[in-house]
Amino acid sequence: MEVRYADLARRYARCAQEYDSAVLSVARSGQYVGGARLAEFEKSFAAFYGRPHCAGVNCGLDALALALRALGIGPDDEVIVPANTFIATALAVTACGAVPVFADANEYFGMEPSEIKRLTGPRTRAVIPVHLYGQVCDMDAIMKAAGKAGLTVIEDCAQAHGASLNGRMAGSFGAAACFSFFPSKPLGAFGDAGAVLTSSEETDKHVRRLRNYGSSKKYVHEELGSNSRMDEIQAAVLSVGLRHLEDENALRESVARAYLEGIHNPLIALPKVRPGSAHVWHIFPVLCPRRDELKDYLGGRGIDTIIHYPVPCHLAKCYASLGYKRGSLPNAERFADTELSLPCFAGETDEEIGWVIDALNCFGR
Ligand SMILES: *Cc1c(COP(=O)(O)O)cnc(C)c1O
Repeated sequence: MEVRYADLARRYARCAQEYDSAVLSVARSGQYVGGARLAEFEKSFAAFYGRPHCAGVNCGLDALALALRALGIGPDDEVIVPANTFIATALAVTACGAVPVFADANEYFGMEPSEIKRLTGPRTRAVIPVHLYGQVCDMDAIMKAAGKAGLTVIEDCAQAHGASLNGRMAGSFGAAACFSFFPSKPLGAFGDAGAVLTSSEETDKHVRRLRNYGSSKKYVHEELGSNSRMDEIQAAVLSVGLRHLEDENALRESVARAYLEGIHNPLIALPKVRPGSAHVWHIFPVLCPRRDELKDYLGGRGIDTIIHYPVPCHLAKCYASLGYKRGSLPNAERFADTELSLPCFAGETDEEIGWVIDALNCFGR
């Protein structure tokens, strides 16, 4: 028996005809960048979230970097980001010239809200909570702390498409909400793509200018921009994916539920779900003090796993100049040392799920 970490071909196969016709219609249209499919996707994605504006971009990293710039964050500013996230969250801060300040996590893997007060200084301008693994952060407390400190909130929703807390969706809280549609994400393109949601027309216009060489009128370059656009094929594919997002999320949730009910091993801590949270399980993380041994053991049984993430951002080599020491953010470091992500994908079969559960229950016995 082999259980892959993920199998995107199964996602495609469930809706193959829709995906085929979306891609073909773009190929036949002769319009490949900046056309009707992007406008259509932006409209339906904004409507899904009940926010007035959505700007499609080329990836999640640029979604964050452009949103930061559009909200006026730049050189000499500081932005609070979690230490336990994919490095792109921090790289976006660096890309706009600002400095990331790393915060520790709580037991739900999200940013600990009290970190905002501790880390806010005279130059702090914004905070980027990341809805890590597909679970919404403690947004009531984060919005409150950020409001008190006068900080702009930008949500990193790259892992949390469709997740909600007490009925309110991740992506509906911040001045901007940034998405990645990298293929493996809960809503995935057939390549790189991303988006910025906002309720501000000005911010939306600014992101649109920045993604298009800093220009809103051809050959009039008002500021230094980049080429960060979403192409038509990705937009057409994402419009199909959006129609099936809630079904896909429900399929992953059923895998996660089986794991939560079936795995009983004192060596393995299961992920905690916050009351009122609709988790979308982009990642199913377990914690195990003998993590590397567990990874090898599962590998020996044909089960593929991934570590998210083996090095917390504050200890990444690229941020060595910021001078963080091991021990400074204990939860983020503990997660990096003990986390292991189990296969958890839409279309995972009962047999595969049972094989994973049995293997975890046998580990160390
Ligand atoms: C994937 C991801 C990103 C970056 O998105 P890309 O589209 O790969 O640039 C940013 N933040 C988090 C939390 C992610 O998981």
